[in-house]
Amino acid sequence: MDNDKQTRYIFVTGGVVSSLGKGIISSSIAMLLLSRGFKVTIQKFDPYINIDPGTLNPYEHGECYVTVDGHEADLDLGHYERFTDIKTTRANNVTTGRIYQSVIDKERRGDYLGKTVQIIPHITDEIKRNVMRLGSTGDYDFVITEIGGTVGDIESLPFLEAVRQIKWELGYRCMCVHLTYVPYIRAAAELKTKPTQHSVKQLQQVGIQPDALVLRAEREVPLPMRRKVAQFCNVDADAVFQSIDAPTIYQVPLMVHEQGLDNIILAKTRVTGAAEPDLTRWNEFLVKLSEAQGEVRIGLVGKYVELQDAYKSIDESLMQACTYQGRKVKITYINSERLNDSNVASMLEEQDGVVVAPGFGPRGIEGKFIALRYCREHDVPTLGICLGMQCMVIEFARNVLGMADANSVEMDPKTPHNVIDLMEEQKSITNMGGTMRLGAYACRLKEGSRVAQAYGRLEVEERHRHRFEFNDAYRARFEQAGMHCVGENPQTHLVEAIELEGKRWYVGVQYHPEYSSTVLHPHPLFMDFIKQCINNK
Ligand code: GLN
Repeated sequence: MDNDKQTRYIFVTGGVVSSLGKGIISSSIAMLLLSRGFKVTIQKFDPYINIDPGTLNPYEHGECYVTVDGHEADLDLGHYERFTDIKTTRANNVTTGRIYQSVIDKERRGDYLGKTVQIIPHITDEIKRNVMRLGSTGDYDFVITEIGGTVGDIESLPFLEAVRQIKWELGYRCMCVHLTYVPYIRAAAELKTKPTQHSVKQLQQVGIQPDALVLRAEREVPLPMRRKVAQFCNVDADAVFQSIDAPTIYQVPLMVHEQGLDNIILAKTRVTGAAEPDLTRWNEFLVKLSEAQGEVRIGLVGKYVELQDAYKSIDESLMQACTYQGRKVKITYINSERLNDSNVASMLEEQDGVVVAPGFGPRGIEGKFIALRYCREHDVPTLGICLGMQCMVIEFARNVLGMADANSVEMDPKTPHNVIDLMEEQKSITNMGGTMRLGAYACRLKEGSRVAQAYGRLEVEERHRHRFEFNDAYRARFEQAGMHCVGENPQTHLVEAIELEGKRWYVGVQYHPEYSSTVLHPHPLFMDFIKQCINNK
């Protein structure tokens, strides 16, 4: 067996249908290899033409995740970080749009020396270059690459061609894990493997032989059936795994580990002498999760409530914080468009705490003010995130400071009381892509504030995604009335966090704490918020 120090590449592809959880399988592989002491990174290639998902409506693609270096990323990068604590960057998420953009830029510069620029080899070479980029730093033992989309899609073809070439060039240093679906046909009371066979055939047609298969199924896929799949698909019998529905996605790494997936990966990529994975802390988390007693009821007020993945990172952050405090989270999604003065009490009185969500544009905004007024007046522990914080400021201006027409310039460009206004550096920008204040910025917290206590330190760094900000011209009036600016950017003095005095927990943050809460490191602000919610019961 070879055991050189060269980087290994693992591709994760998906077949049959989308939404099988390629991101979870990729994250699980990363987490298992990390827990064996390897240096790992994980990236996603998305076959759409958008340069990044930043301009995508959450209805199209769920939450937009933001990396520390300010890349608006696919929400799978959120899974990667929550499973592994790896801080991803723009290098970890590449779209077809980015690939084409850089090829076209090169063509304009004349880099191709008059050659006809084609999908093969120019686009595929660009994909390969991007796949290998993180590996070529020499910093990683394993680079895991998830290929978005489903095998058979026209869009995925250049990516699969790149995978084929890399596999051919690297041999044992590269492998493909293919995730497929084994449906259960109720009328026949049978699991069916034909779709899996077809999807593997489709991979084989483009020249890729998967090295391992993960079968997603709602119920146990019996061993003989897995053997049959192995035989039909040219895959070793011990390299066919099942991933059956689990009560929590965080069990998936353990489920595939018990079946030996990480061992197979090491064997196929010829890595010997690896330590057994240290899963102690992960297991402790799962025990806490299964033993959690009693619910913490959180009302999440937003406008994308009917969409499962729109607030993914917030949901996960709340769950992690509750788990570490021995409770189960019960999130009720409250559509801010439906909130009014006569139903707000009935919608919120059951909640132990309320989160007002981030967002863009005026739809549903009045309902957020109504919710916030209720929470403020009834002393409900409340966390406002980004637009949620801005709404806290506007509601306070309107109902406490007597500025009835206070607003954000985003919602009413002519408001006479622009308590939330455009940031200076955004004023000259007109196109929508990449015009926001994005990524991690330092924030200095005020000593003695609730927020500083929650963090247990005064210097923090948090991720942003916004165009508008608290208007400093009003700061003194807010401070006088008890709404304090307790966090600001040390260079620009932009207001990053506010809290209301005399309340149990009424905190708004211009940044997104939810992007940096992970399974092993729940975010301190969510921890403190949940603690108050528990006290509020
Ligand atoms: N729309 C607001 C802004 O751009 C808030 C953005 C957000 O909540 N992420 O400032």
